[in-house]
Amino acid sequence: MFNSLSDRLANTFKNLRGKGRLTEADIDATVREIRRALLDADVAVPVVREFAAHIKERALGAEVSEALNPSQQIVKIVNEELQQILGGETRRINMAKSGPTIIMLAGLQGAGKTTLAGKLAKWLKGKGHTPMLVASDLQRPNAVNQLKVIGERAGVPVFAPHPGVTSEFEEATGNPVQVARDGVAEARAKLHDVVIVDTAGRLGVDAELMAQARDIRDAIEPNEVLFVIDAMIGQDAVNTALAFNEGVDFTGVVLSKLDGDARGGAALSVASVTGKPIMFASTGENVDDFEQFHPDRMASRILD
Ligand code: GDP
Repeated sequence: MFNSLSDRLANTFKNLRGKGRLTEADIDATVREIRRALLDADVAVPVVREFAAHIKERALGAEVSEALNPSQQIVKIVNEELQQILGGETRRINMAKSGPTIIMLAGLQGAGKTTLAGKLAKWLKGKGHTPMLVASDLQRPNAVNQLKVIGERAGVPVFAPHPGVTSEFEEATGNPVQVARDGVAEARAKLHDVVIVDTAGRLGVDAELMAQARDIRDAIEPNEVLFVIDAMIGQDAVNTALAFNEGVDFTGVVLSKLDGDARGGAALSVASVTGKPIMFASTGENVDDFEQFHPDRMASRILD
């Protein structure tokens, strides 16, 4: 996903190699290049501005180091600042002290929520948890069936509103808030330690969608509300994230479709503009294409 950004940054640092000491002009030129590389990768303008200001300030103030040459020193600063943009420390799931840990998924239609539900469930199962999935997306005709198939693939039970929804083309009906509530109650009764609630998305942010998501949230009081965002949607990512942050006050971000070859920088801005950490990354269509998000490792990968 971030190959071209990586290449651009590597080139920028290459120009500094062999320099004994950096002048202010060297630093200015480098920061300018970094800024351009980030903007070309679609990182949001305010995020780039602040990032560049931090790099410049720190590079100018950096002590002459015995251990690192000037180019290594700048790489180190950029690495640390990138890590900050991406949320700082690795943020783990906030597990419930008693009863099931309730995780609600929110995001636009097509963002990858339903797929993510299965991936997250399988990953948690691999760690010894006993997750259950709840199909509260009653908007998209095939969503309930899709979750059932995904649940089967992940080896995780699925609570669905309609035992009778069997046709691929049949639209599920019912009240998504009630389904979410019943699903959580069932998870509690059956002693599942995690319950993941999939919710409906729309093609664009709309008031009805947000109100429904909020109603579900208020009904089930989740430990985590994960906002799933398609990393390929470019600059829209920031506005969508801000709308969902205001609408449902999510607790963490999942970047999906990081396997794509889009520029992806907008997704890198999401943590910074919302102040919420990126917790997971989805990297393909298969149930195992999923990883916990480590800001330090991602920063190093980008600067590799
Ligand atoms: P939802 O509407 O948010 O539930 O989105 P879905 O989970 O149905 O995903 C929408 C489409 O994106 C499906 O075709 C998925 O197979 C695909 N998809 C989901 N996650 C990823 C991913 O990480 N990488 C790729 N390449 N495709 C994905």
